[in-house]
Amino acid sequence: QAKALGRNRYCFFEPAIEARLRDEMELFTQLRHAIEEQQFVLHYQPIIPLAEGLGSYGEALLRWPGGGSQASPGVFIPFAEQHGLIEGIGDFVLEAASHFVATSIEQGLPQSISINLSARQLALSDLPERLSQAVSKHGIPASAIELELTESSLIQNLQAISVTLTRLRQAGFRIAIDDFGAGYSSLNYLVELPVDKVKIDQRFIWSLFNSPRNQAVVKAILSLAHTIGIQTVAEGVETAEQLAFLQAHGCHYVQGYYLARPMSQQDFLTFQQLGTANMTPAG
Ligand code: C2E
Ligand code: MG
Ligand code: MG
Ligand code: MG
Repeated sequence: QAKALGRNRYCFFEPAIEARLRDEMELFTQLRHAIEEQQFVLHYQPIIPLAEGLGSYGEALLRWPGGGSQASPGVFIPFAEQHGLIEGIGDFVLEAASHFVATSIEQGLPQSISINLSARQLALSDLPERLSQAVSKHGIPASAIELELTESSLIQNLQAISVTLTRLRQAGFRIAIDDFGAGYSSLNYLVELPVDKVKIDQRFIWSLFNSPRNQAVVKAILSLAHTIGIQTVAEGVETAEQLAFLQAHGCHYVQGYYLARPMSQQDFLTFQQLGTANMTPAG
């Protein structure tokens, strides 16, 4: 530490590095402030069933209205994870999503929601207790909350993660592997880990018709998941052709701009109400 400080005295930072550090300091300060002041909101993107007997639900996606150019969760979430700020964000998301589910149920519209958990959150030893406390505080069943975990957060310690996932499922939460196939992809995770669902990464869906290989991969994931009794979601569905392919190959749910974009809580409730109305047989 002293050595590093001492070295800094003699060394000039490159202007570009200095500028980057300044930007990072600023983002850190803004983000910490945003957490303290609860300046975030959740939007919800509908996830639509293709198979009969399944209901639609929504994925909670974090929005930071005051975040300026850094407001994309793809930017500030990884930053928050790296700089020790993700716990505060995670608590906000859990609280806001549980509150939303409770409000929906009060309005007679049973709701189930998925939330994204980061690798850091998954590593918290009291995660199952935290989650259970949040749902019981709001009087909602744990089964109303699905936890999306990216594949990359699962690979770190398969044994320990498996234990945590088992505890979470025993508490009633459902587990989905997010962005499956994006990175470290091993079909092993699907088979080994106690999960309910797999979400196929959007890049496979976008490039579905670019090569027969991508179609083969998606078909293989759908088929394996089906065989071992895991439900499937395709993310990033943007065209009718993609939807038709997924339907033809037995994908359980679809999510993407072709069906609906992430929307405010109020718009999502309206969307759900319309869906329920449409499904009610006439007469
Ligand atoms: P994700 O969990 O894989 O979420 C899906 C992302 O794809 C969302 O981006 C969504 O808006 C976008 N998307 C959905 N359908 C389409 C489509 O058809 N086309 C395209 N181009 N994009 C589509 P978003 O909201 O920017 O979130 C990015 C990532 O940030 C999420 O990826 C997730 O990893 C992370 N994230 C978002 N909210 C949270 C949160 O509350 N907690 C944590 N830990 N991570 C979050
Ligand atoms: Mg997700
Ligand atoms: Mg995803
Ligand atoms: Mg993602």
